[in-house]
Amino acid sequence: MQVVPSIIYVFNQNTQSNEYTNRSVGDAMGYTQQEVLDMGAALIPTICHPDDLPRVGEHFERIRGLDDDDVISLEYRVLHKDGHWVWLLSQDTVFDRNEDGTVRRHIGTATEITRQKDAEEKALAGTRSAAAANEELRSFAYSISHDMKSPANTLKMLLDEIETVHGLGLCADAHELLNLARQTVGRMTARVEQVLDYTRLIGRKSPHVSVPLDRVVAGVQKDLRAEIKATGARLDIAPLPIVMGNETELRVLFQNLLSNALKYRDKDVVPDIKVRSIVGTISDLEGVAVQDNGIGIPKESHGRIFEMFKRLHVDEDYPGVGLGLAICRRIALAHGGRIEVTSTVGKGTTFTVWLRRP
Ligand code: ADP
Repeated sequence: MQVVPSIIYVFNQNTQSNEYTNRSVGDAMGYTQQEVLDMGAALIPTICHPDDLPRVGEHFERIRGLDDDDVISLEYRVLHKDGHWVWLLSQDTVFDRNEDGTVRRHIGTATEITRQKDAEEKALAGTRSAAAANEELRSFAYSISHDMKSPANTLKMLLDEIETVHGLGLCADAHELLNLARQTVGRMTARVEQVLDYTRLIGRKSPHVSVPLDRVVAGVQKDLRAEIKATGARLDIAPLPIVMGNETELRVLFQNLLSNALKYRDKDVVPDIKVRSIVGTISDLEGVAVQDNGIGIPKESHGRIFEMFKRLHVDEDYPGVGLGLAICRRIALAHGGRIEVTSTVGKGTTFTVWLRRP
């Protein structure tokens, strides 16, 4: 490990110049101790970055108001003797006082932090460009799906019209084709709706509050009561934790997991779905498992199912778009958590969501 030596200095507030500095000033800024002392009161105006000068002025003002044990710090740029800018982190405290109690001298250390600041700047630039890319993707996907919605609706209306006006005159084959066309349009509209839902989530930062998952899952159970009744499913929900999050998004997450648990059932077995709280090893995350006794997912597909539009089944067997789990993953990540799957083909699947504790 490279140890960066700190510059140590004593600054006289009365003369506005350094009285002492150690040799590290040469390593960080390229000057000798004597050159720094010789610059006197001209040192700071000469070497400080013009954009940082006002903050340095404010920092000096704050030093003059410090109590004896207070330490304050400041990050600023200075010009190296060879012409490039160097970031310093100064930490200052009162050294001694004039007779009237005002600060006479302060003592400080300055550490070079140029590499950290460069890394910070790069990370910030990365975040900014990721946010811009997110926004571009969001508006692109939104406009495409939005534009598709209106022709899909028109098509549905036209098919309804054919049925109503000409239905009686159609032969059985034509009826069947018409029905097929209407089902297809129905699926298309559902897909467009889901893509729209997904795009609404991209890059969104919603405020997080304490959310009792008992309430979230009870709401989802209510929404799914028709499917639960139709499949005769047993739903066993244990007491669940309170987590930090956005209630609407968490509801979408559990809605997707529970409706998948009902959808990907083994047709010969009554669905038995358990929702359990899981004690994890990571202290600030609460786990909730949604376990089913459905068809299961082959191990080699466990990674793929969370990708957009990735499905393991054809629509005829199990209708769907392939966005549900992508949405779940996005929501879990946006909540500072994650989602995991374990599954055995023919036995069932468990999705575990980890979310932050309040
Ligand atoms: P969709 O259900 O619309 O296809 P999802 O993203 O929710 O999209 O799921 C992706 C795929 O993962 C599904 O097509 C299905 O093959 C598989 N899958 C999801 N949940 C389960 C489950 N509980 N049991 C078995 N397979 C599942």
